[in-house]
Amino acid sequence: MKYMVTVALLLAGVVHAEVQAPQVLRENLEQAGFYIAKVPGGTQVRFNDEKVAVGDDGIFVVGFDREQQEHNTLRLCVGKDCRKVLLEVKPREYVTQNVVGVPPRTVQPDKKEIAMIAADNKAIGAARVVAERHDEKQYGDFAKPFLLPVKGGVTSGVFGSRRTYNGEEHSWHRGHDLAAPRGTEVRAPAAGVVRLARMTFLTGNLLMLDHGAGVTSVYAHLAKMNVKVGDKVVAGQVIGRVGTTGRSTGPHLHWGMYWQNHPIDPILWVKAPPQGAVHGEE
Ligand SMILES: [Zn+2]
Repeated sequence: MKYMVTVALLLAGVVHAEVQAPQVLRENLEQAGFYIAKVPGGTQVRFNDEKVAVGDDGIFVVGFDREQQEHNTLRLCVGKDCRKVLLEVKPREYVTQNVVGVPPRTVQPDKKEIAMIAADNKAIGAARVVAERHDEKQYGDFAKPFLLPVKGGVTSGVFGSRRTYNGEEHSWHRGHDLAAPRGTEVRAPAAGVVRLARMTFLTGNLLMLDHGAGVTSVYAHLAKMNVKVGDKVVAGQVIGRVGTTGRSTGPHLHWGMYWQNHPIDPILWVKAPPQGAVHGEE
């Protein structure tokens, strides 16, 4: 018996234990999509050249850029043993949206307003860094689809579209817009912690939720914010009300989602996306 144990230990030292393949929980392998999987504790994960946060429960998320390349490598390592998983990401077509009737000062801000925008961006960036530092924690259930934050909301803007404001070319749209009457309840699509609740120049009243695993979501142009920084929210909890504060042409929710610092498409996280005409609203 003693002999057998010794042999087993010797073998364990020579034969490297194979790194387990990840257990995929949910995936949407297209540009701006995501890949959510589970690995045994202690597994280090890298996506291409980027380190990926792995939760206490072994769950990790990878988000794909708007222009993500087709061939990507996920590298899972336990000690010196590694396994490569290839992720093929399908390309997407993005539309152009022409938005008219935007307040001119939000398209061509003056010096003071540029300073306000810079301060807002600093606060937003700092909140996202805080969220990433807490990425070992899991607040939400990543195996479940996210809820739509506005019930009965009509899609009025899609992720990734190139945009013109009042006829001028502008950057692409980093979120999904849901038009709804002013005052409509905005609900957390999944559990999280509030990392930002701020009145901003461009995005009006802005909330940021931290869902863990480096995933954050933002809610812009709100008429009202019902939560404050540090609050823990559950899926379905009312966090604010639809409004048209900031650079906006009518009441709607701008819903954005980020993996680490990469904007991703929030609507892909929802099981049944809403139907709606695609016309422009920030
Ligand atoms: Zn928007």
